[in-house]
Amino acid sequence: MHDPINDRLIVFDTTLRDGEQSPGASMTKEEKVRIAKQLERMRVDIIEAGFPAASNGDFEAVKAVAAAIKDCTVCGLARALEKDLVQAGEALKGAASGRIHTFIATSPIHMERKLRMAPDQVLEQAVKAVTWARQWTDNVEFSPEDAGRSDPDFLCRVLEAVIAAGARTLNIPDTVGYSMPWQFGDLIRNLRERIPNSDQAVFSVHCHNDLGLSVANSLAAVLNGARQVECTINGLGERAGNASLEEVVMAIRTRQDVFTCDSRVDTTQIVPASRLVASITGFAVQPNKAIVGANAFAHEAGIHQDGVLKYRETYEIMRAEDVGWSANKMVLGKHSGRNAFKVRLNELGIELDSEEAVNAAFARFKDLADKKHEIFDEDIQALVTDEGSLDACDRFKLVSIKVCSETGETPHAFVALADSGMEISADEFGGGPVDASFRAIEKVVDSGSALLLYSVNNITTGTDAQGEVTVRLTRNGRIVNGQGADTDIVVASVKSYLNALNKLYGAEERAHPQA
Ligand code: MN
Repeated sequence: MHDPINDRLIVFDTTLRDGEQSPGASMTKEEKVRIAKQLERMRVDIIEAGFPAASNGDFEAVKAVAAAIKDCTVCGLARALEKDLVQAGEALKGAASGRIHTFIATSPIHMERKLRMAPDQVLEQAVKAVTWARQWTDNVEFSPEDAGRSDPDFLCRVLEAVIAAGARTLNIPDTVGYSMPWQFGDLIRNLRERIPNSDQAVFSVHCHNDLGLSVANSLAAVLNGARQVECTINGLGERAGNASLEEVVMAIRTRQDVFTCDSRVDTTQIVPASRLVASITGFAVQPNKAIVGANAFAHEAGIHQDGVLKYRETYEIMRAEDVGWSANKMVLGKHSGRNAFKVRLNELGIELDSEEAVNAAFARFKDLADKKHEIFDEDIQALVTDEGSLDACDRFKLVSIKVCSETGETPHAFVALADSGMEISADEFGGGPVDASFRAIEKVVDSGSALLLYSVNNITTGTDAQGEVTVRLTRNGRIVNGQGADTDIVVASVKSYLNALNKLYGAEERAHPQA
């Protein structure tokens, strides 16, 4: 079996499942596939793509990721219920390599108050779940939910029984983010020592960041023999989020003097992955975030700058280029042809599914090149995100917009839209040109949605840079994110708003059962 000390560290990314459970971070099927392909380029080992029994939309998304990914294992989450396991098994049928991840709570508070089951019933159900899952695949992961607050003796009994039933990965979650690193490390070591058949399974951890300790807890677990870490890009996830993939991977890669294992992750894909996830979810990365924040490698203090210029290692423990900060590479301009554009798309790992999609993206590229001299990789990514928003539905399209913003006057906007091809228009006043534009759109569309978030980020530097706008709308309990990019931020804002409306009117209802 595996060597418990020197084994490779398995990186299990759950951006598409736990990350998606961040309020407001829901993704369409196409967005999930795009992120999954980036995770595959980054060489994570396992992609948890969703919770197939949660909704038809989740089922379809897991199925689509399973079909698109060849070099990673694709995983689906399931409660310890036969119907959930059937859904997970069906969704993963097309995967080159599939895994079913099943879970049931083992803490007294969860068993009594949530499941209303006695401990022995929980144990029996856990074994049944693993047995059902084994009918679909040999690659079964089991999680005792709220392990951190479970009785250690009971936890050992459950884990021993599920290993005997065929679970090959045991994932110990700190569901509520309560553990301290030394306690969590001890827990992992004790479980490995006390469970008689523990050498037949890989120990995994899933830590939440409520006290800012998710990465520290994950690393403590690795030092005590865990060989799988569940994590997310940018630390996305429920509440304060999960352990951030980039921090776990880089801590272990940078401190090979401390850790006896390493992941297979291509770290140069980390920054592109971070940007893609931030752009799709609308969850911007704070500038001082480790590894992927805009200032992570910026030296401001004079003494530091001087030191870095003389000898980089004086203040840098990692190289920016090793995590994908390749700097804004100017790739294309006004005179670049369709072929050069297509080659660059390939190099960026962007696959458009038809020649029409390439042509449409190329037309946008030409428009952009007229307004902006230098087209960077980030511009191309945004351009394709704009194009990719076709997956929602394309009921509403921007025809034209005119805004008036003058000192001493109330800002005013006139917006003309195509609603399923029919032109509609309205004008409205507002607090600013963006507010006036959104009010004008609502005047004709009357979606009844509420705006939860409006954010603008510059994609590259300079005042001619494209602004990337995220708009988050909610209606009847559903939340959607829209994106739009343009050198004119009012136009970017309107595109983003229409993208969100298209998602509201297009995609089917999706819900998250695991609250
Ligand atoms: Mn979680």
